[in-house]
Amino acid sequence: MSQPTETIFSKIINRQIPANIVYEDDLSLAFRDITPQAPVHILVIPKQPIPMLAEATAQDQALLGHLLLVAAKIAKDEGLDRGFRVVINNGDHGGQTVFHLHLHILGGRAMQWPPG
Ligand code: C5P
Repeated sequence: MSQPTETIFSKIINRQIPANIVYEDDLSLAFRDITPQAPVHILVIPKQPIPMLAEATAQDQALLGHLLLVAAKIAKDEGLDRGFRVVINNGDHGGQTVFHLHLHILGGRAMQWPPG
């Protein structure tokens, strides 16, 4: 069972709370993570509040592709030419804490594998 779809990210979309926004279009918003885990750590979210990847449907297919392309554009704009990581945490064991789908873009240093 998912959490309610109204989250702190809805408040960021609605400008009810501040965020360091780096990109926006009709479908998505991207902002710097408030607790960065790498020199560059940006979250890309759909404006439509899908709680988590596991709850996306076939109707979200184009939107999910769009989010990935936005992530790639942002990584390029941030100068992450040596590489970067895109992460989606899904659910409790996936480490998800905010139940509004989001892609983490992490870059600016070499990443470790496997992640913890
Ligand atoms: O994948 P997960 O749900 O754990 O990620 C949520 C992310 O949202 C965290 O990295 C947290 O630092 C970030 N966050 C934020 N701004 C907020 C609240 C949370 O950047 N106001």
